[in-house]
Amino acid sequence: MMYTIIGAGIGGLSTALAFEAKGIPYQIFEKAPALNEVGAGIWLAPNALQVLEDLQVLEEVKEKGNAIDRITIGKPDLSPLSDIQQDIFKDKYGFTTISIHRAALQKLLFDKIPKDKIFLNKGFQSFKELKSGKIEITFNDTSKTETNFLIGADGINSKVRNQLFPDSRRRYSGQTCWRGVVDLKLDEKYAHRGFELWGNQIRFGISEVAKDKVYWFAVILSAENSEDDKRFVKEKLQSLFFDFHPLVLKLISETPVHQILKNDINDLKPLPNWYKGNICLIGDAGHATTPNMGQGGAQAIEDAYYLSNLINENTGKNVFKLFQEQRHKKVKTVVNQSWSTGKMAHWKYGKRMRNFILKNMPKKIIEKKMFEMYHIDKFQN
Ligand SMILES: Cc1cc2nc3c(=O)[nH]c(=O)nc-3n(C[C@H](O)[C@H](O)[C@H](O)COP(=O)(O)OP(=O)(O)OC[C@H]3O[C@@H](n4cnc5c(N)ncnc54)[C@H](O)[C@@H]3O)c2cc1C
Repeated sequence: MMYTIIGAGIGGLSTALAFEAKGIPYQIFEKAPALNEVGAGIWLAPNALQVLEDLQVLEEVKEKGNAIDRITIGKPDLSPLSDIQQDIFKDKYGFTTISIHRAALQKLLFDKIPKDKIFLNKGFQSFKELKSGKIEITFNDTSKTETNFLIGADGINSKVRNQLFPDSRRRYSGQTCWRGVVDLKLDEKYAHRGFELWGNQIRFGISEVAKDKVYWFAVILSAENSEDDKRFVKEKLQSLFFDFHPLVLKLISETPVHQILKNDINDLKPLPNWYKGNICLIGDAGHATTPNMGQGGAQAIEDAYYLSNLINENTGKNVFKLFQEQRHKKVKTVVNQSWSTGKMAHWKYGKRMRNFILKNMPKKIIEKKMFEMYHIDKFQN
């Protein structure tokens, strides 16, 4: 029984690692010739970290990343609107959110996978369902492989999904985002904090991802696919965020231009099904969300956990229906809440109302919602 994973991003690598741990036969194919040194960070929430603990990579993630003890949604001057100390999560799980460089996360997952099971420079082209019940996969270089089950972990622009569900659609959120990582010593009082500063229809996020390495993101409303003149991107950001805290301007000015990425923010119009027959989508391929709750990667990691455990409990059977039943409700909540949070952050009118709501939202309610988000079911094995 062979499982073939397409895409060695966060979801594909976590799934490969989970299969490896459970002795589930697999092979994983990635179109890129090498791992990308993408200049961006990622916040790993405690639900993702519980899975990474189960996969026995948590210690390395802690070592390579930076623990966030306090998450603040604030005004442009860094003053808090909503401020959640993470101690309660630390008490329950033994850790809080970790902010880490994406390349470091990908590398540490990649390095754990036996090299005879992971194939780079192998772009998935198409699949064909054979009469035998197997699936034939063709790659960009015209080579082929056969498999019993196919798992599309090839991200928001998934080719597996496009063939499986040709009617699926990406949704543009109306927002575009720049991200950067810069070598900079933060004042110690900010070192273990995660900030998202909400201004006038724009916002800026900050967290250290490793000692003296700071990740930032800047989000504005924009037409889709608008192009930057790379030479002036820093000036553009400086002028957009001119009235933010001096730290924001310093982060922008000290980031090398080649370390600044720009992406439109999209999600995937929810699919009625993530699977058909022996083919299933996971992570962004099946349920991409906007990044406003910092949960897209975490949900891809959760997929790895649930899928591998369900396969382990039902050896040889098709578990994709069970998998979707188990995951669908939480993923739907994330996609919807994230979409509406993004809209609220950029409200044109009612900024005062927005700030009032944030400031007066009872902490207990926020914490309860966060605990729900971080919950992971336990399997007996
Ligand atoms: C601005 C921004 C900030 C974010 N911040 C956070 C955060 O703080 N926390 C969080 O949890 N999530 C965050 N996310 C979401 C997170 O990045 C994604 O949800 C996550 O990367 C999804 O993982 P994935 O493995 O499904 O897809 P991806 O990470 O996109 O990986 C897909 C992989 O498939 C490969 N691939 C594509 N096509 C093919 C093909 N044809 N053949 C073979 N391989 C292929 C790609 O090269 C890639 O390696 C953020 C997203 C954005 C845009």
